[in-house]
Amino acid sequence: MIKELSDLGKILREQKTENEWVHDALKEEPISMEVVITEDGNFKKFELFEKKTTIAEAITAKKGKARLLLDKAEEVLCYGGDASRKKHELFREKLDKYCELPELAPVESFYKQNKVNGVDKALNEFETAIPDEKNRKGNMGFRIQSEGSRVHEKPAVLGKIREKYEAEQKKFLEKSQKNCSVCGKTDYPVEDIPHGMIKKVPDGQSSGCALVSYNENAFESYDLIGNSNSSICTNCAKTYVEGLNWLLSSGNESIKKNKKGKEKKEFRYTNRKNFGSDTAMVFWTRKNEKVNEIDYLEEPDSADVARLIESVASGTERDSRYLEADQFYSCTLSGSAARIAVRDWIETSLFDFRKSIAQWFQDIAIDEYDADSKNTQTHYARLYDLARCCQRKNSDGSYDKDDASLARVATYLWNAALKNTLPPLWILTRVLQRSCLDGVTADRAALIKLILNRHTKGGDFVITEKIVEGDRPVAYVCGQIFAKLESIQYAALGKVNAGIRERYFTYAMTSPASAFGRLFNLNSKHFTKLKGEKPGLAVNLDKELQELCKDVDIRRFPATFSLEQQGQFAIGYYHQRQKQFIPKNLDKTEGE
Ligand SMILES: [Zn+2]
Repeated sequence: MIKELSDLGKILREQKTENEWVHDALKEEPISMEVVITEDGNFKKFELFEKKTTIAEAITAKKGKARLLLDKAEEVLCYGGDASRKKHELFREKLDKYCELPELAPVESFYKQNKVNGVDKALNEFETAIPDEKNRKGNMGFRIQSEGSRVHEKPAVLGKIREKYEAEQKKFLEKSQKNCSVCGKTDYPVEDIPHGMIKKVPDGQSSGCALVSYNENAFESYDLIGNSNSSICTNCAKTYVEGLNWLLSSGNESIKKNKKGKEKKEFRYTNRKNFGSDTAMVFWTRKNEKVNEIDYLEEPDSADVARLIESVASGTERDSRYLEADQFYSCTLSGSAARIAVRDWIETSLFDFRKSIAQWFQDIAIDEYDADSKNTQTHYARLYDLARCCQRKNSDGSYDKDDASLARVATYLWNAALKNTLPPLWILTRVLQRSCLDGVTADRAALIKLILNRHTKGGDFVITEKIVEGDRPVAYVCGQIFAKLESIQYAALGKVNAGIRERYFTYAMTSPASAFGRLFNLNSKHFTKLKGEKPGLAVNLDKELQELCKDVDIRRFPATFSLEQQGQFAIGYYHQRQKQFIPKNLDKTEGE
């Protein structure tokens, strides 16, 4: 995984134009103000602007370090008094190391010869110039009044940073030549230095998290110290950090209209999907090319899905396999304080990836009644909604945020979609529990279908998208009968507070023999009432019920249903209900 992340980082570097920007010694950093000074170090003013980016010295971790000429007010001005003293000293020490550069003379004068009209004056005016406390937190860099570029961006300064960095690397390499565990080469040294922080990790700390970090003796062995245990060279460390940071943050803002037609700015990640507050999946291909199929998981469009399934089935995909050697990667990450927990790592060929996505849509496809066309249509659930199927709800109907199942289920479903794997059976248990409480929705039926079909290894009953006629398992028929009994109750009593679904669904799904005994007794009462009021409808519904009962021996219902049978029961119930939604010409019989 680290090798692939590092390769991605290298590709990203190649895509950048200016050479300096990709040197290991330098890094892009945000800047939000300039300290404008004269040639002889007199403070002139602070120039504030919307956060921009600049190129500056790369430092891997902030603690105990200062960046050359670009930092926060604490470091640059000793803003904050004694508490900032140490930071300011580090900043000044760094400056001293570069004092031979004539470009730095005005800054040196700002701190030394011209101290009163320099740094002292700047510190005094800092608060007045920037009245809003939150604007004082950004990075500041120096600019000479008569010049356009900032001091830290001057070619001589950047050149010196690179020179020092390379000299340092050389020193290390001379000391110990070790093969890097990622690139296998000895071009760069393996050092005990932090690898750089990964930002925007879900539920991680805002300053960033470490993917590789050895900070306790217990993690060390063979006399290696700290990060030298990982045997990752400085170049690979930088590139994997850049690769992962890019995956977690790249995207663009687009204008989206909400339901009320109001326009809203929305940030869309290009290589990341979030599930719950603590989990995100990032994905990419070796050549860093866009894969549209990933978006289908989020917003399935019947035409796209049909085209994909068709191209995989017809072999047009297969034929191009040998030409297309690109690989698809994905990792699932969660923050855990200062570290990153890697929950899943997926590596597959682009060909197998497309095949899996096509299979995924075939497995989750389920008929759903559509009120507009007054008929059933194929429903493709969003992966997010499938993961949501198992989440607990509060009494007011909202989702319970404390229920971590969304992210856990999503991790398995993501893997199942991309690698055609089996989601674990505990997800089936969870979704059946939710179905008993809140009903069998199209999304829940899709999830049940997916798990059941992937767990039956041929021979057994395979659930189809449409209602199954003819030979089908007893549990499936029981679910259909239950739906029919429910509709008879509805026809007789109208909407009741707790109908048979609320009261008997779990019972019927787990202990059919005893539950259906009670249900049939109840039904004869509903039927008698309905017969008195709407005899035509009563006869029709009863006929449909008898049709279903013919397919099973109702005197020999099993005492219990297994987990798999419970799933079949729920699907039978769901399919039957969708069928019942389709309007029939009942007007005539109803009037009789
Ligand atoms: Zn390396």
